[in-house]
Amino acid sequence: ELRNAHEPEFLQAVFEVAESIIPFSEENQKYKIHKILERIAEPERVIIFRVPWLNDKGEVEVNRGFRVQMNSAIGPYKGGLRFHPSVNLSVLKFLAFEQVFKNSLTGLPMGGGKGGADFDPKGKSDHEIMKFCQSFMTELYKYVGADMDVPAGDIGVGAREIGYLFGQYKRIRGEFTGVLTGKGPEWGGSLIRPEATGYGVVYFVEEMLKLRGDSLKGKNVIISGSGNVAQYTVEKCIEVGAKVLTISDSDGYIYDRAGIDKEKLAFIMDLKNNRRGRIKEYADKFNCEFFAGQKPWSVKCDIAFPNATQNELDEADAVLLTENGCFCVAEGANMPTTPAAIHVFEKAKILYAPGKAANAGGVAVSGLEMSQNSLRYSWGREKIDIKLKLIIEQIHLACVKYGKEPDGYINYGKGANIAGFVKVADAMIAQGIV
Ligand code: NDP
Repeated sequence: ELRNAHEPEFLQAVFEVAESIIPFSEENQKYKIHKILERIAEPERVIIFRVPWLNDKGEVEVNRGFRVQMNSAIGPYKGGLRFHPSVNLSVLKFLAFEQVFKNSLTGLPMGGGKGGADFDPKGKSDHEIMKFCQSFMTELYKYVGADMDVPAGDIGVGAREIGYLFGQYKRIRGEFTGVLTGKGPEWGGSLIRPEATGYGVVYFVEEMLKLRGDSLKGKNVIISGSGNVAQYTVEKCIEVGAKVLTISDSDGYIYDRAGIDKEKLAFIMDLKNNRRGRIKEYADKFNCEFFAGQKPWSVKCDIAFPNATQNELDEADAVLLTENGCFCVAEGANMPTTPAAIHVFEKAKILYAPGKAANAGGVAVSGLEMSQNSLRYSWGREKIDIKLKLIIEQIHLACVKYGKEPDGYINYGKGANIAGFVKVADAMIAQGIV
């Protein structure tokens, strides 16, 4: 704790996992003897670098770039790159730490990592984004590779940025390899990758509800965020017959009482992905309410998907949600729920799916993209969607196995932590003190 006292997000993520792992290691002494928890919480390596670039006015700008290589016990480091002004070492270490467990849960051979920069893509021209990505990769290329470390997208890094990063890597190394995932389908990307995180979260909720003989059909749903994860959560919710009432961005949320339908979703995708506009425009266009500076958690619903960013749902929000009858919360984002809010959900015994289990669909299909790149082959949509569904079902089962409590309540948080831990811990023990 002392060593990382200045890293609150990282400590939060480690404490949340330690709460499940410490009692588990008491019952399974080998993990204690080998000091797995202490070792797993220390990154194998952290790279911090300068990213200088020229803006459109010809002025020099400087950002800080990072790559946290957290754990490679079960495969090459794997995890996204985030471009957002809030990026710092604490945020990236928390994300890399979570990624280790998430990647393990997928059952695919991927270690954990995360990276990014404190660069703000908002308001930047395409040309500036390209210059930044090229400068970022000019340093990062030394530390990544198809068998070493395979980054992907995250907040602020979508298909456009992955394209610029990949182009620069290929130019420097002179080789076309699967060094990044989230590539375009014409140049090594996997079908279903853009959809995978959002679809996967919905598949996970379907699995949880199935255990109770229920489904998403006819349920009222609220969602935060309007980026990649939120958009495809909306798409799948519409497909399975749920009614989506809200989406948001960092300016506020829209509340559409009639529900977001396919045409409205097409508007959101164009607004956010092509025009890079603000969500308020949705309210103006479809004549519904916009709540500036607020989050959607006060809207009455059955199911909530926090899909924007970390710590966006606090204790007061959790109390409000449960009082309003929400009985299921599934995290599309990473660590969107504060520890106190998680305790509210657990106390109320409502269904709570942590990000490392519920949003693992994205990295799972990234793993499938790596397999396709190694094969030099591309699979069809249907095949990948079936594999994605199967992986989510298996993650759900693993959470049930390790998370079922004596009274029958399934503590998905605990289940995900232990199930993710065991595979990595056993690999670390087998590989010795390294
Ligand atoms: P995008 O950049 O596509 O979208 C992010 C969305 O969240 C935007 O609506 C953005 O609003 C909002 N947001 C971001 N930061 C903040 C903030 N500080 N306060 C309020 N709103 C904010 O990112 P993704 O959809 O890819 O990622 C969303 C979450 O899902 C992240 O936690 C990410 O780590 C997680 N995740 C993503 C995966 C993926 O495959 N993409 C996989 C697994 C997890 P605005 O436009 O105003 O900034």
